[in-house]
Amino acid sequence: KKNVLIIGAGGVAQVVAHKCAQNNDVLGDIHIASRTVAKCEAIRASVHEKGSLKTPGVLEIHALDATDVEATKELIGKTGVQIVINVGAPFVNMSVLQACIETGVAYMDTAIHEDPLKICETPPWYGNYEWKRAEATEKAGVTAILGIGFDPGVVNAYAALAANEYFDKLDSIDIIDVNAGSHGRYFATNFDPETNFREFTGRVWSWQNREWTQNQMFEIRKDWDLPVVGSRPTYLTGHDEIHSLSKNLDVPDVRFWMGFGDHYINVFTVLKNLGLLSEQPVKLDNGQEVVPLKVVKAVLPDPASLAPSYTGKTCIGDLVKGQKDGKDREVFIYNVADHEEAYAEVGSQGISYTAGVPAVAAAMLVATGEWDVGKMVNVEELAPRPFLKLLDKLGLPTRIRDEEGDRELSSTF
Ligand code: NDP
Repeated sequence: KKNVLIIGAGGVAQVVAHKCAQNNDVLGDIHIASRTVAKCEAIRASVHEKGSLKTPGVLEIHALDATDVEATKELIGKTGVQIVINVGAPFVNMSVLQACIETGVAYMDTAIHEDPLKICETPPWYGNYEWKRAEATEKAGVTAILGIGFDPGVVNAYAALAANEYFDKLDSIDIIDVNAGSHGRYFATNFDPETNFREFTGRVWSWQNREWTQNQMFEIRKDWDLPVVGSRPTYLTGHDEIHSLSKNLDVPDVRFWMGFGDHYINVFTVLKNLGLLSEQPVKLDNGQEVVPLKVVKAVLPDPASLAPSYTGKTCIGDLVKGQKDGKDREVFIYNVADHEEAYAEVGSQGISYTAGVPAVAAAMLVATGEWDVGKMVNVEELAPRPFLKLLDKLGLPTRIRDEEGDRELSSTF
C-alpha cells in the first residue's frame, strides 16, 4: 500500500506531513486536504523550506470538507491514495471512516469521534461511534487503526508490550502524561482549545475494579516522581484509551493522569464557572448568538503559534503493576520528548510532535504490510515491537524503568 492523504492542516498535520515527506520512499505521494486551504499551503511551504522530502515526489494540497463523504471519496479516487491519515478535528472521524470503507483504503486517526453538540460523552467511547462500524470495516477488508497518536496510541502499545513481555498477570495500568514545557504565555492550550477544554469540563471516568468509576475533574491528585521532569502533580482524567484497554486487556484498573500546574487550574476554573467553556449558544443583547467556547478559542493564542518559543520536555508513559513468575513487579515504559528539538526538526511543538509521529509510523507499517490487518483495531491489538522499533528511528525512543534500572528499549531489540 502506498500514497497518503493527510486530512486536516493543524499542528498535528504539520508533523505528519514532515514525517511522511522524510519517509516518502516508503509512503509514496503525499496529499494534504483540509477546510482552509491556506493552512495546507503553509504546511507544504514548510516541508519544502526544511527540505523534508527524502526523494523528489508528489506533495499536493486540496480543499476539502471532510464531513462530506462523497467529496472525500472523490478525492481518494482522484489522488489514488491507499492510506488516509485523519488528523482533522475529532468531528470528522465518522465521515472520513465511511469514505475509507466505501473506497477500500486504510484509515487511521488519533482521537475518538465527537459530536460537536455533546460535551464529554460518557463511556463506552469507542462504542458510541467507531466500533459500530467495525463489522462493515472488516467486511470491506479495510484496515482501520483507531487512536494512533501518543495517548491514545503509543501508550496502548506500551500496555501491550507490558502484557506480552513483562507480566503474567496485570493489576493496574496508570497512564501518566506530563508536559513540563513552558510556552511563556499567560494562558494557552497545547492543542485546539475546544478539544482541550471539552476533555476536562465534564465528569472524569476511570476503570477501577473492572467497573467505570466517576469523579469530578481536579478531584483526585497524585504526584509522581518521573524520569527527567522530576516530581509533578497530575489529576485523574478521562481518556479514550481507558475504554479500549479495559476491553482488550485483562486488567482490573486503568487510569489516566494528566499533569496540570496551579495556574492552569485557576484560569480554567474561572472560565468554567463563568460559563465561558460552554458549547451551548448564548444570546447577546443585540440578538446575535455566540458559542462561549468558540469566543474563548478566538481570543486564546493559536496553539501552533506557541511552537517557536516553547522550551522544556514532555514525559508520557505507562506505569504497569502486576506479577511475573509469581513475583510482584512494577514497570514504567515511557518516552521523553523535547519541544525545542521538535520545532527545529518539523516546526511544531512537542505535543503535536508526539501525536503526529506515531500516525506516520503506523502508515509505514500498513505500507509494508506488517500492520495491514484488514479490519478495525485499537493499537493494543497490534504487535507493539515493530511499531516501537520504528518510533525509535522516527524520533520517539522508548525507555523502560524497572527493578533492573532505567534503560532504552532499543537495548532489547
Ligand atoms: P487543529 O485544530 O490544529 O487542526 C485540526 C484541523 O482539522 C484544522 O486544520 C481544521 O481546519 C481541520 N478541520 C476541521 N474540520 C474540518 C472539516 N470538516 N474538513 C476538513 N478539515 C477540517 O488540531 P490538532 O492538529 O492539534 O489535532 C488534530 C487531531 O489530533 C485532533 O483530533 C486531536 O484531538 C488529536 N490529537 C491527538 C493526540 C494524541 O496524542 N492522541 C494529541 C493531540 C491531538 P481549519 O483550519 O479550517 O479549522
